[in-house]
Amino acid sequence: MDNIEGQLSASENNPIGSNTIGHHHRDHDYFMEQALEEAKKCTPSQTAFSVGAVLVNSSTDPHIVLTTGFSREREGNTHAEEVCFLKLQEQQDLLPLPQETTLSLYTTMEPCSKRLSGKKPCLNHIIDFGQISTVYIGTREPSTFVAENTAIDQLQKHGIGCKFIDGAQPICLNVATRGHASSHSATVV
Ligand SMILES: [Zn+2]
Repeated sequence: MDNIEGQLSASENNPIGSNTIGHHHRDHDYFMEQALEEAKKCTPSQTAFSVGAVLVNSSTDPHIVLTTGFSREREGNTHAEEVCFLKLQEQQDLLPLPQETTLSLYTTMEPCSKRLSGKKPCLNHIIDFGQISTVYIGTREPSTFVAENTAIDQLQKHGIGCKFIDGAQPICLNVATRGHASSHSATVV
């Protein structure tokens, strides 16, 4: 199991991609880069994070992206992971995934465990889907809006692995806080 704190303190000057550009392997860096590209599509918001996510079929070789999502992509202040599941549901209505298929979720920020809007947290979307084996994460959620995110603990209690992508934290946090006045002055709403 990765040491979470150790991963988080990985080099500040090593954005993902810096040592992987041009690689053709569909590895964890590759999929996190895809999630980051999604995050960059977000309309910046002062009152929310800009997050990207990709849902990957990890039962196939090579692994393939099934759906993508970014914050506020769909109506109703949607979250990136939530959009991935909405799109997957639309696909599944046409072409159901075999029961034994396992999926991995790559998200630039840890899934939310609480939403101020009262909507279903992404944590629960992941658990309820039932076929996610591992969640790969770019950065922890800052305590800007919700004091403490408990998603990682809860996911692990449900047997879902959580791993941080080494080196992804600085760039994922930078993109997530686009539109915020600064990481220190953002107000809790
Ligand atoms: Zn969420």
